[in-house]
Amino acid sequence: MTNKYDVVILGSGVIGLSIARELHGKGLKVAIVAKDLPEDSNSFGFASPWAGCNWHSFETDGNAPAAQWDAITFRRLAELAKEHPELCERIPFYTVWQNEKKGDNELWFKDLVGDFHKLEASPSNPLPGNMSFGHTFSSYILHAPAYTAHLGSIVRSLGIPIYRHRLSSLDEAYNLPEIGRVDLVINASGLGAKSLIGVEDEKVYPARGQTVLVRAPEVKTCYMHVEGFMAGPLKPGEKPPPEPAYIIPRPGPEGHVILGGTYIKDDYSSLPSIPEAERILKACYNLCPALAGPNGKSWKDIEVVSHNVGLRPAREGGARLELVHREVGGLTERRGIEPKSDSQGPRRKVGVLHAYGVGSAGFQNSLGLAEKATQLALGYVKSQKTRAKL
Ligand SMILES: Cc1cc2nc3c(=O)[nH]c(=O)nc-3n(C[C@H](O)[C@H](O)[C@H](O)COP(=O)(O)OP(=O)(O)OC[C@H]3O[C@@H](n4cnc5c(N)ncnc54)[C@H](O)[C@@H]3O)c2cc1C
Repeated sequence: MTNKYDVVILGSGVIGLSIARELHGKGLKVAIVAKDLPEDSNSFGFASPWAGCNWHSFETDGNAPAAQWDAITFRRLAELAKEHPELCERIPFYTVWQNEKKGDNELWFKDLVGDFHKLEASPSNPLPGNMSFGHTFSSYILHAPAYTAHLGSIVRSLGIPIYRHRLSSLDEAYNLPEIGRVDLVINASGLGAKSLIGVEDEKVYPARGQTVLVRAPEVKTCYMHVEGFMAGPLKPGEKPPPEPAYIIPRPGPEGHVILGGTYIKDDYSSLPSIPEAERILKACYNLCPALAGPNGKSWKDIEVVSHNVGLRPAREGGARLELVHREVGGLTERRGIEPKSDSQGPRRKVGVLHAYGVGSAGFQNSLGLAEKATQLALGYVKSQKTRAKL
């Protein structure tokens, strides 16, 4: 019996969709299954539509896999910006901070981005927010919900179906009623990897991000003051870091800008905190008073569009991109918690390629991670074909 599809991708966020397009380009037959679809821009369990969203690598080691994914993505975004300026645009960035730390000026990507300069405040050259140090360079901003929906239409136009289906276990994905039997599943389920039976990755955690969407058509610069952003709870006697704030304009005609934000580990709350929203507006106004418009006098003049919360699918130790050989089917090793649909017939060898846990970096990782995932998936499919011939 031949399978109709080579691969099923579990998840239709920016990671699953980017991998699907890449795999199709290499000739594989792909189907996607997900509980949230690419155009579900208001679904709380789905990170992609809530992203800021910009390319600003957080990697400190330029040789780390995630830095390499970021670099590949950066190079490929030039094409997207050219073809779809309403989704992706290159603009000036300022990243500023108050307390000088070792390594702050040794960014691995300074030759990759454009127009990179180190900044130090002086009376004749004050920095945004009256900060002491900074960098300026040019990089990309993306319209996260529109880009996610755009990727969804691209993959559908390539003939890749996207089925809405919520899975309780990884095993279900190997024989879904809509798709039939497959030997390889790509697990791009983001935060879902924490509780999907058969994955149950305890290192996965949500990092809650609250933002305020505002209208400020004159603001065409990205500002980042993310000192202490991911610091977590303070230790006894520790001084609180300065207030984090970021300002990311959105491409497109609406003149929208995302103001952030927070990074709160293990917080699943979907409700925006109003005191936090006020803090964000004040801190962002301090970085860029132009947010309040040409006649604005205070942060209260910023035109608020909406208050938003998204959960970044983060993971201790970083993202997981790993091919694992496993078995499905047979009833001997059942734990009693699996859904009945896990019955896969006789036991057989299959593969899973895990591609989740990208945290704050899913968009800037996406195209590079998808290229590496595709190499791993192709290797698996080829080895299966060779095995079948022997
Ligand atoms: C406030 C905020 C700001 C951000 N800013 C940036 C930024 O500036 N730059 C950047 O690069 N990134 C940014 N991010 C991070 C980015 O949004 C994520 O890294 C990225 O969206 C993760 O994509 P993903 O495809 O892994 O996960 P998701 O988008 O969460 O997709 C997961 C998919 O898996 C499906 N799924 C999960 N469980 C199951 C199940 N059991 N059964 C079926 N389907 C399932 C979901 O329905 C969904 O389709 C930000 C995030 C937030 C919240």
